[in-house]
Parts: sequence; structure tokens; C-alpha cells
Amino acid sequence: MTHKLAILPGDGIGPDIVAEARKVLDALAADHGLALELEEAPVGGAAYDDSGHPLPDATLELARAADAVLLGAVGGPQWEALDYSVRPERALLGLRKELGLFANLRPAQVFPELAGASALKPEVVSGIDIMVVRELTGGIYFGEPRGVEELGDGRRRGVNTLVYDSDEIERIAQVAFDIAGKRSGRVCSVDKANVLESTELWREVMEQVSTGYPGVELSHMYVDNAAMQLVREPKQFDVVVTTNMFGDILSDEASMLTGSIGLLPSASLNQEGGGMYEPIHGSAPDIAGTGQANPLATILSVAMMLRYSLDQGELAERVEQAVSRVLADGWRTADIAGAGERVASTGEMGGAVVAALRG
Ligand code: NAD
Repeated sequence: MTHKLAILPGDGIGPDIVAEARKVLDALAADHGLALELEEAPVGGAAYDDSGHPLPDATLELARAADAVLLGAVGGPQWEALDYSVRPERALLGLRKELGLFANLRPAQVFPELAGASALKPEVVSGIDIMVVRELTGGIYFGEPRGVEELGDGRRRGVNTLVYDSDEIERIAQVAFDIAGKRSGRVCSVDKANVLESTELWREVMEQVSTGYPGVELSHMYVDNAAMQLVREPKQFDVVVTTNMFGDILSDEASMLTGSIGLLPSASLNQEGGGMYEPIHGSAPDIAGTGQANPLATILSVAMMLRYSLDQGELAERVEQAVSRVLADGWRTADIAGAGERVASTGEMGGAVVAALRG
């Protein structure tokens, strides 16, 4: 079976890091018979410069027809003055919406060699392996009514609505429980059920769904406590499932435990098992084209793609092990290099991963 992939490099370091991810895909195709059909298209600022829109129809069609999308990053200072409707970041929202990507998966894992890079003590972070599952298409970011209204007496009112239907909660719960079943079997659902009725419903539905997963243990935590526990004792968490806004904040907090955004992948999944895979970092315009970008987050995004959309768990593990190997062997790009350590370029790091895959 041939897997169709849409490759959207985007802006800034996007093309630099996606080129390295493609080397890994090429190696898997050559050595493991992985049948791939790759097609590239512009997105973000590059697409705007090309065609006047950050998500051209042709790019969206390619993404729709693909089994999975690999995205680099979008954005940059040259597009910041554009109208909001054609800003590069609009492409991400468009892709999420059009592809129905309702589940955002953000792993935060600390590689032993890099435990010292975290702002927290190495003994607190070494060994953490957390998967934040964030609901991505509902909640307060999309709820109606919304907006700013004139009250007529010189005052204005800003309104947003936190709304969740039970089926929206059910499907994100199922994603979290399925993933936990393949990990250490624990789900912590984060809400604010003591104050917000919509998350009281969230908690109830989580409980209902959990009855279908006897092998997975469900616990609940209020979001304020979760924010605290993530820095106090992060190793207590396995899978964390939460609403759109809480997930936005907690997944960034969890990523900072690891000390390097150059290493963190992400996946956004839809109901059909398709997904978009991208590093969590931005387009880093300050280092674009200089060979300083760390390609590992993108390469680890390829591993997530193999696992969650292409049903190639074994190859996913090979890629993850290859990344661990190169880090253990001392390969470092500038963002993760300690004083006096040899700094590899983007291309050298990608090449090292391919060599480790083949070694
Ligand atoms: P950023 O993540 O691009 O960069 C923050 C810092 O981290 C910079 O110093 C950068 O050099 C460094 N960095 C990021 N990725 C790196 C990598 N792989 N290797 C080495 N160093 C890396 O965040 P920013 O500077 O706030 O944003 C830059 C642009 O990216 C903006 O236009 C922003 O809107 C956009 N952005 C895009 C996405 C996305 O495409 N998903 C996400 C966040 C920001």
C-alpha cells in the first residue's frame, strides 16, 4: 500500500528542517520497503508571496487527498503587517478546520543526555515522558457568542463562550484512552469542574468513556493544580487530556520541562486517522538558511506520523531510537550544545540520524 504524503515546508527554517525529514523518509523507503508518494506544496508566507493566499486551494486539496501532512513552520517578520485574513498563521487554522483535526498530541520527553538543559533540576525532569492530548477544535476558542460589543454608555463588553458537546468530549477521551493503552495505562483528565459547568460535563463524559477501557486508570485534576504539579513532580503524569485552552497552556508548560523546543514534535489527528505532523517550534527566521536549525523535532514528527497515520509503529520506534542514538553519541546542533561541545549543522544532524537508522 502506497502512503500519500503532503509535504508543506513553509517559511523560515521550515524548508531546512523538512529537507532532513525527507532524508529519513527516503531512507525508510529504500531500506524498509515503505511505499511513499511525496508531493510538496507552498504554505504560509511562501504561499502568500506565490499566490496571494497562505493556504492556496491547490495546497489544501493536496492535504485533503493525503494520508498525512508533514508541515515545517510558517510565519516571519516580512508578513507581520499583512491583514489577519492572509497572515501565514491563518494557514494552520485553515488546515486544522478543513482537515477536521480535533486531537492535538504533544509529547514531552526528556532525553537522558539533555536533562541538564531544562530550567528544572535534572532529578525532577530526567525520565519524564508525558503525552498531552489537547482538544483542538472546540471550547472557548470557537464557542459562540463571541466578540466585543458596545454597551451604549461608553463601556464595551468582551465575550467568549466555553462550550462542549458530549460527543466532542467523547471522541477526544477515546483518543487519550487509546494512547494510554499503548503506554503506561494512565490518563489524567484536567478540568475546572469546581467552577465551570461545561467542564463538569467534561469530567462526567471522561468517566463514562473510561468504563470501556478497564486497563486504563483515569484520574482527574483541576487545571491550577495541574499547572503546579507539572513543575513540582512531572514524572507522575503519563497521558494528560484536556480542553482546548487548558491544553494550549499546559502543553507549552510541559514542553519547557524538556529544555529544547528544537526536539519536540506534535501531531494533530482527525477522526479518519489522518493527521498533520509538525515540530512545535516556529519558523525561527533568525536562523533560517544558516544551517543552525535543529531538525530533530521534525524528524520525531515523522515518527509520530508513522505511528498514528501510517500504522508503522515499528518504523516509528526505529526513528525514535535513531534520534536517541545520535544524542547519546554526542551529536548536538547549536540550540542543545553545551559549552565546548562540537556543533553539527542541520544537514549533519539529519545525516547522523539516517546513518543511525542504517547502523
Ligand atoms: P520560534 O519557535 O520560531 O523561535 C524561538 C527561538 O527558538 C528562536 O531563537 C529560534 O531561533 C529558536 N528555534 C526555534 N526552532 C528552532 C530549531 N528547530 N532549532 C534551533 N533553534 C530553534 O518562535 P518565534 O521567534 O516566536 O516565532 C517566529 C515565527 O514563527 C513567527 O512568525 C511566528 O508567528 C511563527 N510561529 C509559527 C509556528 C508554526 O508554524 N506552527 C509556531 C510558533 C511560531
